[in-house]
Amino acid sequence: MERIKCLIIGSGPAGYTAAIYAARADLKPVVYTGMEPGGQLTTTTEVDNFPGYPKGIDGPSMMVELQQQAERFGTEVRIGHVTKVELNKEIGGIHKVVVDEVTEIEAESIIISTGASAKYLGLPSEQRLRGGGVSACAVCDGFFYKGQDVAIVGAGDTAAEEATYLANICTKVTMLVRRDQMRASKAMQHRVNRTKNIEIRYNTEIEEVIGDQVVEGIRVVNNQTKTTDQIPITGLFIAIGHKPNTDIFKGQLEMDEAGYLITEGKSTKTNYPGVFASGDVQDKEYRQAVTAAGTGCMAALDAERYLGSVEG
Ligand code: NDP
Repeated sequence: MERIKCLIIGSGPAGYTAAIYAARADLKPVVYTGMEPGGQLTTTTEVDNFPGYPKGIDGPSMMVELQQQAERFGTEVRIGHVTKVELNKEIGGIHKVVVDEVTEIEAESIIISTGASAKYLGLPSEQRLRGGGVSACAVCDGFFYKGQDVAIVGAGDTAAEEATYLANICTKVTMLVRRDQMRASKAMQHRVNRTKNIEIRYNTEIEEVIGDQVVEGIRVVNNQTKTTDQIPITGLFIAIGHKPNTDIFKGQLEMDEAGYLITEGKSTKTNYPGVFASGDVQDKEYRQAVTAAGTGCMAALDAERYLGSVEG
């Protein structure tokens, strides 16, 4: 059976940054890309907030460059999806991993960078217009709607924070809340309520996103009165939560109630020796490419120290 010194699961900014550091430390990393090679950034258009790109860069190109940088130092990138893990609790123990249901491999250390996926409403019109005005990240895409009218769905802290962020850029933000109250903290709710160009519509859900190639509006329904209405907008932001990609680790790795992996203190260590977590899979708070890259670096350094201590 093949034995890998440093196995990296996931190919977003966290996974590739971990690979750059691990390869330069001669850990001979192998990256399994997962089902979405390049991760969430491949679904965004322009990335303007990653340091070092003064003119911005589109998400897919940035991920190709990150992959090339990792490969330059000897990382092996493989297309494949890890479908099962059998982690070893012993210090220096060997972890077993199954790729694409069939290929069994062994790993001395594992860096988990499987990310999180934004939740969507699931409407066909919403899925069709993803990238054409429907976005799940106001910080990434809000700028494109400068001086325009937009809407945001959701009522948690993320929706509240993103609504106020958008209100600074856009002319008007309509916030759609499905119940008669918000879930967001009181402080965040006050901020939203104080912002003049945010209109909150309670008990309101989207029936359809209108537009052929790009978003032109939404048809909404009041779920109490059943009255429908059309709102003209050019951008629709979905902020109804994220789901970390941790199903295969359930029952082994410690996670919070939402499924995010728990790491020890400021490190990337999980509750299994030699298993580290970086990026959105362990971060529901910041969720930025640059913070994911930062923790990817940390995970590789943690893996290097771990392997060094095991090898004595
Ligand atoms: P949450 O799970 O807290 O909130 C999701 C929101 O989306 C809820 O209001 C929910 O409505 C709504 N929702 C879910 N599904 C649908 C749907 N199909 N249609 C319409 N609305 C829907 O997720 P968040 O991303 O907001 O927050 C995640 C965690 O991160 C939380 O613990 C939060 O506190 C934290 N966070 C903290 C921040 C901070 O402190 N600055 C900033 C951002 C996040 P309902 O209420 O009816 O269930």
